[in-house]
Amino acid sequence: MKVTEHLAKADKTIISLEILPPTKGKSIESIYTHLDKLMEFKPSFINVTYHRAESVFKKRSDGHFERVEIRKRPGTVGICAALMNKYKVEAIPHLICGGFSKEETENALIDLHFLGIENVLALRGDAAANEKFFTPHPHGHRYAEDLVKQVIDLNKGHYMEDDILDGVKTDFCIGVAGYPEKHIEAPNLDTDIYYLKRKIDMGADYVTTQLFYDNKHYYNYVNQCRTHGVTVPIIPGLKPLTNKRQLSMIPSVFNVDVPIDLYNEMMKAKTEEACDQVGTEWLLAQCKDLLKNNAPVLHFYTLGKPNVVYNVLKQLF
Ligand code: FAD
Repeated sequence: MKVTEHLAKADKTIISLEILPPTKGKSIESIYTHLDKLMEFKPSFINVTYHRAESVFKKRSDGHFERVEIRKRPGTVGICAALMNKYKVEAIPHLICGGFSKEETENALIDLHFLGIENVLALRGDAAANEKFFTPHPHGHRYAEDLVKQVIDLNKGHYMEDDILDGVKTDFCIGVAGYPEKHIEAPNLDTDIYYLKRKIDMGADYVTTQLFYDNKHYYNYVNQCRTHGVTVPIIPGLKPLTNKRQLSMIPSVFNVDVPIDLYNEMMKAKTEEACDQVGTEWLLAQCKDLLKNNAPVLHFYTLGKPNVVYNVLKQLF
């Protein structure tokens, strides 16, 4: 079922989760251990992130170094199929432009369609680890809007090869990313929303936001989007902040503010448990407020902290 159908059917706020594939060499059991408890809350869908290959230098036997491409977290598509099979839940693979040719993307979409996957989150992806700015694949897309267009084309049965005249039409529901505190490269929020609207006009069905710790950013973003004519659902992304290291890491990686009250409480916490407690209480308060304001979904970046998300959900439902 498509995300848009889940939203249309729901008479109250629904739950969704987001997970990362395990690092290469690790078992999928770590995902199941992570999700088993959380499934009690019947998430409507589970997103699985995508991670591009990274260039690393490896020393050869002759002493020289060579650059090799390593994908540290493969398995997005396989995990989606496994989750659908095991939990009978909607799984949403993330698709990125970075590192992919258009043809590879088309083939990936064909695989997803054959697997019965009906949703994708279409993203540009970040710059590669060794690059300052995002560089598209020579035969790939520069912006997420171009990827959205490719998915829409396939939904119409238009394949890259001109001689496929009666191509089967896929039927993907497409989500895109939005940034309540603006994307790091955007000169201002208005410009960022202008480009968000282009993704929607191209055919995207809904927006999932970057994480935030002050709900006023989300409410302001939704209002600004509506003013700019973005009418699709905007799903808030939530991630527990549970240690002192994240106080500087999260702002630099995600370009978001950590409110002073959260910062102060975390700095006062003396033990790991106390830090978890601060993160739990903050997330719980955010969720209660979002529920009060009828957010369509609570989307949790569960990442390494399923217990915190579990404790929050347990207190909410
Ligand atoms: P875009 O929409 O292409 O925007 C990128 C920047 O370009 C913005 O500043 C925008 O304002 C600007 N822009 C957009 N279109 C144009 C245009 N036509 N002309 C000029 N400027 C333009 N990354 C991963 O690698 N894997 C993941 O699984 C993943 N999941 C994510 C999930 C969510 C919910 C979010 C919010 C982010 C996720 N990311 C992921 C990170 C994302 O890939 C990065 O934030 C990336 O830098 C931007 O992606 P985007 O799709 O928003 O890009």
